[in-house]
Amino acid sequence: MEERQPYGSVTAKTLRDLAELVGPRNVSGDPEKLAAYSHDEVPSASLPEATLAQALVFPESTEHVSLVMAYADRHRIPVTPRGAGTGLSGGAVPACGGILLSFEKMNRILELDRENLTVTVEPGVVTAEINRAAAKHRLLYAGDPCSGDASFIGGNVAENAGGNKVIKYGATGAQVLGLEAVLADGSVTWFGGKRRKDVTGYDFVHLLAGSEGTLAVITKIILRLLPLPKHTTDLLAPFGSVEEALGFVPRIVIEAGLLPASVELLDRRAVEVAMRYLNAKLPEPDAAAHLLIQLEGNDPEVLADEVEKVGDLCLAHGARQVYVADNRTARDKLWKARKAVPEAIVAFHSRYAKEDVVVPTGSVPTLMVALEEVDRAWGVEHIAYGHVGDGNMHVTLLPPEGPEGPEKLREARHDLYRRVAALGGTLSGEHGIGLKRRDDTPLFLDEAQLALIRRVKAAFDPKGILNPRKIVPGN
Ligand SMILES: Cc1cc2nc3c(=O)[nH]c(=O)nc-3n(C[C@H](O)[C@H](O)[C@H](O)COP(=O)(O)OP(=O)(O)OC[C@H]3O[C@@H](n4cnc5c(N)ncnc54)[C@H](O)[C@@H]3O)c2cc1C
Repeated sequence: MEERQPYGSVTAKTLRDLAELVGPRNVSGDPEKLAAYSHDEVPSASLPEATLAQALVFPESTEHVSLVMAYADRHRIPVTPRGAGTGLSGGAVPACGGILLSFEKMNRILELDRENLTVTVEPGVVTAEINRAAAKHRLLYAGDPCSGDASFIGGNVAENAGGNKVIKYGATGAQVLGLEAVLADGSVTWFGGKRRKDVTGYDFVHLLAGSEGTLAVITKIILRLLPLPKHTTDLLAPFGSVEEALGFVPRIVIEAGLLPASVELLDRRAVEVAMRYLNAKLPEPDAAAHLLIQLEGNDPEVLADEVEKVGDLCLAHGARQVYVADNRTARDKLWKARKAVPEAIVAFHSRYAKEDVVVPTGSVPTLMVALEEVDRAWGVEHIAYGHVGDGNMHVTLLPPEGPEGPEKLREARHDLYRRVAALGGTLSGEHGIGLKRRDDTPLFLDEAQLALIRRVKAAFDPKGILNPRKIVPGN
């Protein structure tokens, strides 16, 4: 990589130049606005090197993005792309000031192509709008992060967001067929397209999916669509122990021979905090763990049989009861409880370590035992919930009271990481690395891979202006 420092500074002239390129209404240097846009859902104080942007740009077109990138390239000004700012890793938080590129004005669904089963969108479309637009045509856009009512599709692609349906349909990257991207020097190119297969050249589409805005700026996205399942049923199964709940999960595939759309776990503390937050009740609040299982199908009778089969299996494997939600209201109530957990934790706890570890699915039971050991070793408490069907647990560690709390929390987090690594797991399953986890990547990626990541970054972004200092140390 070329020598990257010092970056060019952003001055009053820079703001004037940018206004000339994209129009004055699309540029702001207002300190209040800059502060509001320079954070995501991670408290900035906990992020190493978090800075404020110095110029805010709201592009309205690919051409705008290209002009801004070419300008930034000439003046060596860092650029941080930003979606809705719902990220949980500080990915959209500038580490070196510079320009913040917010995509809220590039928010059009450009085309829903029923022949090719694709939808082409700009990066600022709210994820749930794509789900709804597809559903109107009885089609499914399968990306389904819990933040879908707020997050943008560009942020989903850049994070390779997961969510509730990964077990059946894969993460966001699996839905992406093509990307229009603006490279660091302002040139515009397409990776992939509407094709279902493509082995012509490297698979840049899936390199960009999950690249967290460090390699290129995504300006259009072609997503695959699938037939929308006609019927959906959710089952809520409270278990007396976490081990029983986890022991049951693989039985759905192995014994029932079914691939559910979702399998989510909420431990007792997760249920407690969500119910307190919502001022609501689940029927068995003292159960050690709840599983939320979603099944889909086209034939209501077949689906009813499958629901019965899974329900019976749950009971045979220790579920205290099985509650079936087969209408919209009942299902929404269950998912509201599941989706409330992260917000509830933030509402009731001022200090926490919100983790996103993932282990091979067969190792989740060992992970849960390891968590108990981490609690005992450091005096912390944990809340565990998340996409257990994928082995991706959102573990939140809570520190003990007292002055040594923060240090114990830090130690507990590292202890957890070591145990996850030993299980063949990794640091983040879907929330990404950003600034928050950057310095922990060397525990999970060896030197050869860290060096390769830096070389890939340098190949895409020789001047190091695109979302610098993210993902691995030295980027
Ligand atoms: C309550 C809650 C629930 C959540 N649930 C889930 C979940 O179930 N699954 C999950 O995976 N995540 C979840 N998240 C995390 C977050 O919503 C996702 O990471 C989401 O994909 C971020 O989208 P965003 O538009 O907010 O992006 P931002 O946070 O604004 O940005 C995220 C990253 O994308 C980059 N970026 C944004 N737009 C572009 C672009 N056009 N080109 C290049 N790079 C770009 C940014 O630079 C940054 O690195 C949750 C968050 C919250 C607060």
